[in-house]
Amino acid sequence: MNIEQKKCHQDIRLSRRVKDLKPSITLEITAKAKKMRSEGIDIISLSAGEPDFNTPDLVKEAAKQAIDDNFTRYTPAAGILELRKGVAEKLKRDNDLEYSPECISLCSGAKHAIYNVIQVLCDPNDEVLIPAPYWVSYPEMVLLASAKPVIIPTTESMNFKITPDLLEKYVTKKSKILILNSPSNPTGMVYSGEELKALSEFVCKNDLIVISDEIYEKLIYDGEHVSIASFHDEIKQRTVVVNGFSKSHAMTGWRVGYTAARIEIAQAMNNLLSQSTSNVSSITQKASLAALLVEESVIRNMRNEFLKRRDLIVDRLNNIAGVTCLKPEGAFYVFPNIKNLQRGPSMTVANALLDQAEVAVVPGIGFGADENIRLSYACSAEDITEGLNRFEAWATPPS
Ligand code: PMP
Ligand code: GLU
Repeated sequence: MNIEQKKCHQDIRLSRRVKDLKPSITLEITAKAKKMRSEGIDIISLSAGEPDFNTPDLVKEAAKQAIDDNFTRYTPAAGILELRKGVAEKLKRDNDLEYSPECISLCSGAKHAIYNVIQVLCDPNDEVLIPAPYWVSYPEMVLLASAKPVIIPTTESMNFKITPDLLEKYVTKKSKILILNSPSNPTGMVYSGEELKALSEFVCKNDLIVISDEIYEKLIYDGEHVSIASFHDEIKQRTVVVNGFSKSHAMTGWRVGYTAARIEIAQAMNNLLSQSTSNVSSITQKASLAALLVEESVIRNMRNEFLKRRDLIVDRLNNIAGVTCLKPEGAFYVFPNIKNLQRGPSMTVANALLDQAEVAVVPGIGFGADENIRLSYACSAEDITEGLNRFEAWATPPS
C-alpha cells in the first residue's frame, strides 16, 4: 500500500456537529421511491412533500427573461430591493403585517430560512420548544446550532395542538424559541386565531421568540390562516415569520423562501447570508417577483384540487380496519394512526408498505410520532386511489 492509499484508509474524523446528523427522512424516502421507479418497479409514491403541479407560466417566463437580460450576477445578500418590497406588500395584503423591506431576508428556500434563524438566535444550551408531531428538520437544525430541542408531544385527542397549559409544563428559564407551524406538516392541523392569541400571550409572558413557519398558508380547506405576528406590536417583535413560494406556487426546485423579522434579527440574517450562501439565485429572484403577481385564482385552483384529494384519501384511510385518520384542515398531508393495525412501529409499517405493497409513505417516527405514518396527497387522484387499493389489500388479512 503506498502512502496515498494509506491516507485513504485512515478514518476521517467528521465534526461533532454532523457526526450524528440524520438525513431528512422525507427527502430520503422520496428519492428511494424515485430510484425504484426508474428501475422499473411500479411504485406509487405518497411520500413527496411537493405539489405535482407545474410552476405557473408567468413565473417561468420571468426566469427566461432574466437570463436573456443577463440578470445573472450577484445581488445584495438579502435579495433585490424590488423583491423585498414585493414581499413586504404581500405580508401587508395577506397577513396584515407591516414590515419595511429592510426587515425581509430572502433565503434559498424556507428550510434555509429556518436554519438561518436558528443559527442567528441560538447559543449552546438554549432550549427550543418544538410541538410534536413536528416537521423533520426542526430538531436537527436546533442540534446543529448546539441548542437543545425540547419536544412537546401531542396526540389525536388534542387535535395535535399545543395550548398554553401544556407549554407551561415544558418552559424553563433556558427556553428561548417556540417553533409554530400552521398549517402543519405532517398533521395538516390549523390553529385558529383564538388559539394563536392564547399562545401569543404565553410567548410574551415567558419572554420567548416564535419562529412561525407559514409555508402552507395558502393551502387551507377549513378555517383561515392567521399569522401569530398580527395581534399586536409586542408579539410581532417577538416573531420571525417564515414563508416562501415552494408550496403555494409549485416552486420547490427554485429554492426561495424568506423571513420577516425585527431589524436586528434581519441584519444578523443578512450577515450570515453574506458569509455563507450570498444571495438566492438572481434568476430565481426575478421569478419570485413574478410569483407575487400570479393571480390568486391560480393558487385557489391548486388548493381546490388538493381539497378533493384530501377528502378522497381521508375516506379511503378510515375504511381500512385498524387505521384512523383525522381530517386535516390544511397542507397536503394526512397522518393516520396505524397502531391498531398491529404490524409494528411506523418504520416497520413504512418499510413493509414499500417492499410488499410498493407504496411509499413516510414513517411517523421521523416526525416524532411512532404510531402514525404520513401520506402526501400532492399527487394525482389516480395515484391516491391505486396507492390506497394497495394499502387496503396489504392491511386486510385474507379471510
Ligand atoms: N417548512 C415546512 C413545514 C415544510 O414542510 C417545508 C417543506 N419543504 C419547508 C419548511 C421548506 O420549504 P422550502 O422548499 O421552501 O425549503
Ligand atoms: N417539506 C417536504 C416534506 O416534508 C419536502 C422534503 C423536505 O424538505 O424535507 O416532505
